[in-house]
Order: sequence, then structure tokens, then C-alpha cells
Amino acid sequence: MPQRKPHIAIIGAGIGGLAAAVCLRRVGIDVRIHEQARGFIRLGAGIQQAPNAVRVLFALGLRDKLLAQAFQPDSNDSRDHDTGALTNSLPLGQSVRDRHGVPYFLMHRGDLHAMLADLVPDDVIRLNHKLAGLDQAPNGMVRMIFTNGETAVADAVIGADGVHSVVRDLMLGAEQPRYTGRVAYRTVFPTARLNGLPVEPCVKWWGPDRHIVSYFVNPRRDELYFVTSTPEPEASVESWSAKGDLATLRAAYDTFHPQVRGILAACPDVHKWALVERDPLPRWVEGNVALLGDACHPMTPYMAQGASTSIEDGAVLSRCLDGVDRDGVGDALRRYEATRRPRTSRIQQTSAQNTWLREPHDADWVYGYDAWTVPLAD
Ligand SMILES: Cc1cc2nc3c(=O)[nH]c(=O)nc-3n(C[C@H](O)[C@H](O)[C@H](O)COP(=O)(O)OP(=O)(O)OC[C@H]3O[C@@H](n4cnc5c(N)ncnc54)[C@H](O)[C@@H]3O)c2cc1C
Repeated sequence: MPQRKPHIAIIGAGIGGLAAAVCLRRVGIDVRIHEQARGFIRLGAGIQQAPNAVRVLFALGLRDKLLAQAFQPDSNDSRDHDTGALTNSLPLGQSVRDRHGVPYFLMHRGDLHAMLADLVPDDVIRLNHKLAGLDQAPNGMVRMIFTNGETAVADAVIGADGVHSVVRDLMLGAEQPRYTGRVAYRTVFPTARLNGLPVEPCVKWWGPDRHIVSYFVNPRRDELYFVTSTPEPEASVESWSAKGDLATLRAAYDTFHPQVRGILAACPDVHKWALVERDPLPRWVEGNVALLGDACHPMTPYMAQGASTSIEDGAVLSRCLDGVDRDGVGDALRRYEATRRPRTSRIQQTSAQNTWLREPHDADWVYGYDAWTVPLAD
């Protein structure tokens, strides 16, 4: 009897959910994404894509678009916040291409999201579908219940619904992520506003209890992104669209190097995002339901690996499900978890320390990972 390929439902059309959908479709699996939003907004944010993510993105067909739209810095520099003394400079550019075979990209988050969305046919994404409940039948089929009253069924459900994942809550019980006591102020703005102030292409300024990262987000160098980690005792906001107060931000960095103060003086507005984290979860899979991306391994942004590891998840998930019929889905999902959890747990824990690249150290264990060839767990 011919095998029946599983039908997979993904909850959430963020970078992780979209990348997983593209990876699964690449091996011929039928996918449907259910997304709560009515449409996608282009938030003013940058994103770093290290070679471990770029290997996946290139295989998905995004090489030319990335080369055209993303910026490739020659180095990633760390500097003391006030003197500007260089504490580390990780060579990127040609050096990373030689070492890892692919570039290190800095880009607009909206561009990456749009590139992935363009690889998914419109009818694969169902907008305005907010998941509220899940039922697993003894035969493995999973029924999804949405707040708009609709239901749907699939052979497996992948919860790619972010740090406040409903799928996670349904699987493990509701538990709020931990507020780190810090917020990220971030924005992308035209470099023309800098009035000729020279800025570094990719730099992190390390203060005693706060930092700021800035970089160009396209090869034209006409847009600059910055993101901070700033102590604020109250977790007042966590929304992609919440605005921050510019005067508060500038005051928080008034002892920093003149270049930082110049950037903050030039930026027209800023978003604010509470930084939250969780400890590594004990498990990501229950029956034919699994978690992916921030839903299972949310992390602080200090290694710039949250989206990158979500993209890796999709590639490994597709390898585990490749050629599997519906009866094998549960085992394939457990294999996916067993392959991925040790790596993402280590990155979550390393990221939480916020020491990544401040001093010279080995980055190859992160950037050298190849999701297409890493051995799958037994
Ligand atoms: C300040 C900051 C800087 C960062 N910088 C980087 C970086 O440089 N590089 C990097 O790799 N990562 C970075 N990250 C991390 C990265 O943004 C996240 O790890 C990544 O976006 C996670 O993707 P995701 O798809 O798992 O979740 P999300 O992007 O959160 O997507 C989840 C999706 O699920 C939808 N959803 C939620 N609930 C439901 C529901 N009930 N039903 C249906 N849909 C639902 C949401 O609307 C959303 O579209 C940064 C994060 C922060 C906060």
C-alpha cells in the first residue's frame, strides 16, 4: 500500500514557522500555517544571520536575495562603552566566508520575514487564526480550535507561536517567561540623519550594566539599526509595536562614547521590548504535537541566535519527517527534539551570560553547525 505523507499544521508565521514550512514543503510535505495576525507589519528592527542560519537559507533558494539585500560586515567589534577601546574584533567578511563557506549577514528583520513569506504560496497561510485549543485523538490526528470558531485537523501540529506559546501552555501548563529586568530599545533609521557622523559598521558598546549594538542593515549602508539592553525594573511592555521614550533612552546612555550619543541623538523614534527568557524546557513533544523556535527555546538576544536557531529547527524537522508516513510522525518528532534540544539548551544558557564575543573565544561551535548534515539522534 502506498505511504500517506503526513499533513502538518504550523501555528505561527514568524521566522521560525515560515522557515519550517519552506523546509517541509521542500521534502514534499503538505503544510498549512495558522497565524493569529491579520497581516504582517514591518517592525523597525535588524537581525543578524550567522553562517549556521545562512546555510539553511541558501539551500531554501535565498542566496541571491540575501546577497542583494543584506549587509556583510568585515568584523564584529566589541568596545568599552566610554573609552571606545577595542576588546575584541571577530573577523567576518571574507574571513567568515573562507572559514564557513557562507557569509555572515546583517539585515532588516522585515526583509528576512518577507523573503521567507515569498517562498510560501498564499493559500498555505491562514491569517486571523488564533489557536485556542488542541485535541489529540487516539489515532494521532490533532484537532485545532481557533478563537474565530473554526477548527482544523492535521497529522501533527508544530507550535511555532513564539515566547508566549499557547501550544506550549497546552502541553506543559501555563507559565510566564521570566523578565530579565531589562528592555531592548531598538529602531532602524536613515543614516542621512547622522549628518556625516562616522559610525562603525557592526559594533557592541559594553557598559558596566547595559550595552548597545549597532549595524548597517543593507549593502548601501543607508539605514542603521541599534538595539540596547537597558536595566528597567518593571516589565511594562512586550509588543512589537510599543514605543519607547527617547529622552529616557538618551539619558540611560549619556556616559557612553560620543558615537553612541550621536546615534541616539539622531534617531527619530524607537520601539521598546521587554527581554524575557525561560530555562531550557524538559520536553518539546507530546504525541504528535511539537514546539519550535521561541516557543521551546526563547533566549536573550545577546548571541543573536534566536531566529537563527529557529531556522535550524525547521531544517532538522524536515529531515526527521522526510519519507515518514503518518504512523511514523510521533517518532520523527521525538527524533527532532533529541537532535535539537542539547544544542539550543547550550545556546540559551550561553546567551543568558551576556559575555558572547566580548573577549576573543571560539565561535565555531555556533557558526559551524550545519543543520542539513548534523547527525540525527537515534
Ligand atoms: C531585541 C531582540 C533582538 C534580536 N536579534 C536577533 C538577531 O539578531 N538574530 C537572531 O537570529 N535572532 C534575534 N532575535 C530573536 C528572534 O527575534 C526570535 O528568536 C525569533 O523571532 C523567534 O521566531 P519564532 O518564529 O519562534 O517566534 P515569533 O517571531 O514570535 O513568531 C511567532 C508567531 O506566532 C504567532 N502566534 C502567537 N500566538 C499564536 C496563536 N495562539 N495562534 C496563532 N498564531 C500565533 C505570532 O503572531 C507570530 O507571528 C532577537 C530578539 C529580540 C527580542
